[in-house]
Amino acid sequence: MRRTQLFTKTRKEAPADEVSKNAQLLIRAGYIHKEMAGVYAYLPLGLKVIENIKQIVREEMSRVDGQELIMTNLQPREKWETTGRWDDKVVDIWFKTKLKDDSEIGLAWSHEEPIVDMLKQHINSYKDFPVSVYQFQTKLRNELRAKSGIMRGREFVMKDMYSISVDSKQHDKYYNSVIEAYKKVYDRLGIGKDTYVTFASGGAFTQFSHEFQTVCEAGEDKIHLHQGKNIAINEEVLSDANLEKLGMNRSDLRQVSSSEVGNIFNFGTDKSERMGFDFTDEQGQKQFAYLGSYGIGITRLMGVIAEKFADERGLMWPESIAPFKVYLVRLGEDKAVVDVADKLYSEFEAAGVSVLYDDRATAAGEKFADADLLGIPNRIVISDRTLKEGKLEFKKRQAKDAELITKEELFKRLAQGGF
Ligand code: ATP
Ligand code: MG
Repeated sequence: MRRTQLFTKTRKEAPADEVSKNAQLLIRAGYIHKEMAGVYAYLPLGLKVIENIKQIVREEMSRVDGQELIMTNLQPREKWETTGRWDDKVVDIWFKTKLKDDSEIGLAWSHEEPIVDMLKQHINSYKDFPVSVYQFQTKLRNELRAKSGIMRGREFVMKDMYSISVDSKQHDKYYNSVIEAYKKVYDRLGIGKDTYVTFASGGAFTQFSHEFQTVCEAGEDKIHLHQGKNIAINEEVLSDANLEKLGMNRSDLRQVSSSEVGNIFNFGTDKSERMGFDFTDEQGQKQFAYLGSYGIGITRLMGVIAEKFADERGLMWPESIAPFKVYLVRLGEDKAVVDVADKLYSEFEAAGVSVLYDDRATAAGEKFADADLLGIPNRIVISDRTLKEGKLEFKKRQAKDAELITKEELFKRLAQGGF
């Protein structure tokens, strides 16, 4: 894409009322637009990042046989009454509204009940199991606080997956395979080393749920890392009794701030019993289905990654989710420079390398500042000076210095798997 075609502009200052670092940077770089507190639109650059994150998640969910679908945002009250979760005292973040005939409906804050109810209509024999379905859906939550930018939205994108199994054995096997799939997702997103499987509260059936917590100063959670075991315990369940259950010593723990980028729950048969989700087993007996639920905060991940990898000059996307692979800067309007830069741009396009081509007639300083702010992982500069040497300037976003290399060298690196 040419920069002259991209409608979004960068800005030096974030809106005065924006307190979170991720939103400040993302607004300044033109990735998101603030509609109101906790409500953000995703502009072309931001949408590319979101789609790249989703694609990684999609690939890993389909590897564990997840089938993608999309549930609805409007939900009838009755579906939530069966489990008692229509009540605002039980779920305090509901947005609710009414149809013209006065019947009440809710705006999706979760899809657990509707999805179980939908599955119920398709699954009735042990032969239909196991099943796992997932979606990328916008959740609407009337969150009390929305000061963490896109890390806590009132409207945000979640990947939610649900599994049903015939018994606890089948369930446990699947649940553990999702833990491994999640680890792959966070690895591919570049935050694997800083993301910990964390014991937390919840899960109607089991003692603990598993959260995936990424170490991040702006995170709203406190976790205690176990040095050596590579796992953590959420402060909300930190007690001597729980530490003993998990075989951890207090002295081995270190407290850090973190953000919950995913979580998984084992509901056992609790929810299916409440919702009457049964099936016939091999002996012809009625049984209740085992249910698991698995969330990943897609937009929160984008915020966490924006925060974690930024420096004083701007964003710094991992290659796997960057909106473009290359930021191509053309300095000056000399015909020779324009020709070489145009040619390189089309060669990249032909090779399937995504490029944002800064073809604007603006000052060099502005172009470099934008390249840093936008955080695209590879910067290439073509100018009179580089042409004289018969080379081009190449720099990784996180590197201090640029290097002069030939175009052949550049494409050789590309062919070998990356720059
Ligand atoms: P939190 O404790 O942060 O409020 P939660 O327990 O409400 O999270 P779930 O309802 O299980 O979270 O949602 C699954 C995932 O969706 C979370 O692990 C998180 O990554 C993400 N998420 C939850 N609430 C928000 C929000 N308001 N904005 C952005 N992402 C969110
Ligand atoms: Mg919440």
